[in-house]
Order: sequence, then structure tokens, then C-alpha cells
Amino acid sequence: MNCLFCKIIAREIPAEIVFENDHVLAFLDIGPVSEGHTLVIPKVHAENLSAGSREDAQVLMAVVHDIAPKILRAVGADGYNLGMNHGEAAGQEVMHTHIHIMPRKEGHPRTFTKLRPAAHEIKETAEKIRLQ
Ligand code: 5GP
Ligand code: ZN
Repeated sequence: MNCLFCKIIAREIPAEIVFENDHVLAFLDIGPVSEGHTLVIPKVHAENLSAGSREDAQVLMAVVHDIAPKILRAVGADGYNLGMNHGEAAGQEVMHTHIHIMPRKEGHPRTFTKLRPAAHEIKETAEKIRLQ
């Protein structure tokens, strides 16, 4: 299947993976809006949340519950925004369900502008998260 995130699951294209279980993969966004911006995806392809199974919706949120505090600790953030662009009309660009975890620091602007970190910076952030 010609799906970018399925290729990441299959390790056909690289990503900085920070968590994996039987059902879910989490990896850093290549165009983060903040340090530690993470995408959480089901391993079974579905175009969006409602097209997938209820079980996958539940396990996705369970993983967000578990890993968000670790991501916050790793990058020294104080809170996070969750995001989901569901459908092209809502700005969805990759047609495989994903939840955005966007860490936020007190006093920093809550911008949705993509930062342009170097690959080594994303890698270093992932290493900090994996150590938690
Ligand atoms: P959407 O607008 O579909 O909710 O967001 C898709 C997200 O996927 C964007 O934030 C974008 O930066 C991210 N993204 C696109 N291509 C890649 C990629 O090849 N690798 C990673 N890690 N993230 C990607
Ligand atoms: Zn897919």
C-alpha cells in the first residue's frame, strides 16, 4: 500500500520511533511545532479515526495517556496539546490515522508553525524520550 505511515511501520522509511506495542507506533513528527511533537498511529491502516476499529481508537488514547508524561519530562514541557486533523477538509495530509502530541512550555507561544530542526536534533530528542 502506498501509505507513508504504513511504510514507517514496515521500517521501509526511517523515523525516530519513541514507543511501540502490538497495536500502536509513536514517532517524532519530521516537522514539529514544538520539541517532542509526536505522532501516535495504529498499526492497522485506516484512513482516519472513524474508519478504523473502536479498539484501535481506545488503544491509541491509552498510549497517549502513558507516553505524554514521559515526553513532557524528556523535553521539560509543562503541558501538551492533542490534535487530530480528520479528513482533507480539516487539513489532514497523511491519510493514516494519527494523533499529534504537541508539548508546550510555560510562557512559550502556542504556535502551530512548523519548526525546521536538523535531523540530528530530532534524533537527540527521541533519545531523551526513549530514556524515560
Ligand atoms: P496531518 O496534517 O495529516 O495531521 O499531519 C501529518 C504530519 O505528518 C505533519 O505534521 C508532518 O510534519 C508529518 N510528516 C509528514 N511526512 C512525514 C515523514 O516522512 N516522517 C515523519 N516523521 N513525519 C512526517
Ligand atoms: Zn497506512
